[in-house]
Amino acid sequence: MTRRIYNFSAGPATLPVPVLEEARDNLLSLGSTGIGILEHSHRGKAFVAVYEETEALCRELGGIPDDYEVLFLQGGASSQFFMTPMNFLSADDTADYLVTGSWAKKAIAEAKRFGTAHVAATSEDRNFCYTPSDVSYSDRPAYVHFTSNNTIFGTQFKSDPQVPEGAFLVCDASSDIFSRPIDVASHGLIYAGTQKNLGPSGVTLVIIRKELVERGSQDLPTMLQYRTHAKTQSMFNTPPTFGIYMVGLVLKWLRDQGGLSAMEAHNVDKAGRLYGFLDDSDLFQTTADVDSRSLMNVTFVTGDADLDAEFLTEATEAGFDTLKGHRSVGGMRASLYNAFPVEGVVALVQFMGDFEERHRTA
Ligand code: PMP
Repeated sequence: MTRRIYNFSAGPATLPVPVLEEARDNLLSLGSTGIGILEHSHRGKAFVAVYEETEALCRELGGIPDDYEVLFLQGGASSQFFMTPMNFLSADDTADYLVTGSWAKKAIAEAKRFGTAHVAATSEDRNFCYTPSDVSYSDRPAYVHFTSNNTIFGTQFKSDPQVPEGAFLVCDASSDIFSRPIDVASHGLIYAGTQKNLGPSGVTLVIIRKELVERGSQDLPTMLQYRTHAKTQSMFNTPPTFGIYMVGLVLKWLRDQGGLSAMEAHNVDKAGRLYGFLDDSDLFQTTADVDSRSLMNVTFVTGDADLDAEFLTEATEAGFDTLKGHRSVGGMRASLYNAFPVEGVVALVQFMGDFEERHRTA
């Protein structure tokens, strides 16, 4: 087999090896069915069983109450940017947005097409390097939207925002879904592309309170109404069958790791090792404020663009892949999602220490 290297990609991202092995084995025949997982009809018994198991596992691991629907949709989290306001924001209403990065900016831009979108908080003044605590809501927002983890800027909310009476909370959890326990009941709607913590690209997990499904606009194309997908087990049209299957395998793996609390401890440990090194380093600095740092995406720089480039070249040669930061921050970004192994963090810290040492004496 080709050697696997440490993949720090922000998504699609590294997946657990046992999951990939099981998927490989089921490509030619799912269990004893004689038909591979990619080839099964979504209406057949075998796939329906996969779907039901995946949904059940999702509910069990996420502690998702019965009055919530679990949907597996397509179009990425980016489609939720418009589907949410299309369903819940009418022309006379206002929705409040916590603008903590590029993804939140994209989300609010879509909301503006359908109603009034109010910036309740923003951290743009310092290039989104923190999660704001000063929040100023509009009078009667229909909902409050926030991005729990800011993939590009390496910040993460430590707790969910409190929302005003009458509003419901919407969370874009694309880059930290199921990396720690979630209080689902404090949200009306949670959505996430699965390509970072839960599986491959092509599936968007939506967890939505049933009462909201009923409430959503009826005056929309069928595919854009949540009720369409809720009524049909996400099978109004052909769902992303392979992606859902993969999410099911990752959820089983997560359960075997001890569930979301165990995963959180694991993620705290991994990120802690890298932040610990960065805090002691004379060469590298983190870009996010300490109290806002993400456990998922660790962003750092040397402060010298040429040295960053040199580091990235050497790191890639040494088998640490996709460490380049997003162009809006520069420097480096190490994405350490659920499946990223602690050994990879230990090896990176060792490599960075050696790089620093060489540059101290150079
Ligand atoms: N929100 C966040 C926080 C993201 O990180 C991303 C993708 N990196 C998106 C939304 C967009 O997701 P998608 O590509 O699935 O549309």
